[in-house]
Amino acid sequence: MKTLVVFDFDHTLVDDNSDTWVVKCAPDQRLPDWLKNSYEKGRWTEYMGRVMSYIGDSAVSGDTVRTVMESVPFTDGMVELLKFIATHKKSIDCIIISDSNTLFIDWILQAADVTNAVDRVFTNPARFDHRGYITVERHHSHECAQCPVNLCKRKALRDFVESQVEAGVRYHKTCYVGDGGNDLCPVTSLGQGDLVMPRKGYALERLLSKARREERALKPQVVAWCSGLEILHQLAALIE
Ligand SMILES: [Mg+2]
Ligand SMILES: [Zn+2]
Repeated sequence: MKTLVVFDFDHTLVDDNSDTWVVKCAPDQRLPDWLKNSYEKGRWTEYMGRVMSYIGDSAVSGDTVRTVMESVPFTDGMVELLKFIATHKKSIDCIIISDSNTLFIDWILQAADVTNAVDRVFTNPARFDHRGYITVERHHSHECAQCPVNLCKRKALRDFVESQVEAGVRYHKTCYVGDGGNDLCPVTSLGQGDLVMPRKGYALERLLSKARREERALKPQVVAWCSGLEILHQLAALIE
């Protein structure tokens, strides 16, 4: 049976936030206050839609946006980790669940030549409209009260695992790698024998220690990381 590796994207695979990195395309590399102030809590996708529309109105071409996005730095060791996964596809399936969007993630993975490591990407669908502007939609709708309206990573993970079971694929272990607050919801659905790998010094690590202090039951084993190479060593031991 295979191991499933689930990655968050921003501040996990890449060492920045792709949705804020794109601001480097805007005039003077900043957004006007009216736009910044238009964000409403929980409605990030709509806000990003307005950001992309502003970038389009500023006559920034799609090619320019792509070139800027390709310069997002990967986190230490992550390219090596993805290349390791690409050479061990017989034992590892790998998915990304992210609140970024399909275009940014595709471009960034292609720039590092690591698309072959990743089986599926679950994120907000983005495309170019007839004007050449980038539009972003919500990934799905869900009923989880903890998560932003456009994405519950637990539902995305559960739907994927269920569709795999229907296709005859079962995982003996799931390894979830993330950094942020929205990675807590999927992690609470993992079982004993699974592995959560929070990035050291980031929100998910703090939330997991808080959950443990409050003695809320958390079944998976927790191993924090600083570099993708530490995750690579864990994975190499798992699939031996
Ligand atoms: Mg993140
Ligand atoms: Zn949720």
